[in-house]
Amino acid sequence: MSDYVEPPDDDEPEEQPLDPEERAALRQDLVDVQVLKEVLEPKGIKGAVFYCPDCGEDHFLGWDLLAGNLQELLEAGESPVHEPAFEPNPNDYVSWDYARGFLDGYESFEQEELGEIGSRLVAKLVKSGMRIEEVKGVLAAVGLRTPDGADERDPRRLNRNDQ
Ligand SMILES: [Zn+2]
Repeated sequence: MSDYVEPPDDDEPEEQPLDPEERAALRQDLVDVQVLKEVLEPKGIKGAVFYCPDCGEDHFLGWDLLAGNLQELLEAGESPVHEPAFEPNPNDYVSWDYARGFLDGYESFEQEELGEIGSRLVAKLVKSGMRIEEVKGVLAAVGLRTPDGADERDPRRLNRNDQ
């Protein structure tokens, strides 16, 4: 499918269609921006700053503006307009690299949190007499990964004298 080539369109020579990978990357960016807005806005971070080689200066983009630009790029396949935020305070904006790095950390933190919840749930359910296979089914049903070593929590696998 990556071999697919857009047929040339002589009527609109200016248009540069996005390839599927670019579109997928843009959609991911859009999702990331929504998460970043949700997480960083309450901390006073209003958006991200980008160096624009066309204008030769930094552009400060609020989360909504950034999302709008990405949406526009996704739909129209054109570079978004160079519309800076109104009198931005540079302290309110982070670099996109920082934002992405923050997101990576945030997501792995979430995974750790979920792993912790999963462990507690396994311990609780096993203690209540549920078989480990059933516990795994419950975790899978709510979208939690079974924590490493969960099998060892099954009392039937343990020597009774150890308890
Ligand atoms: Zn610009």
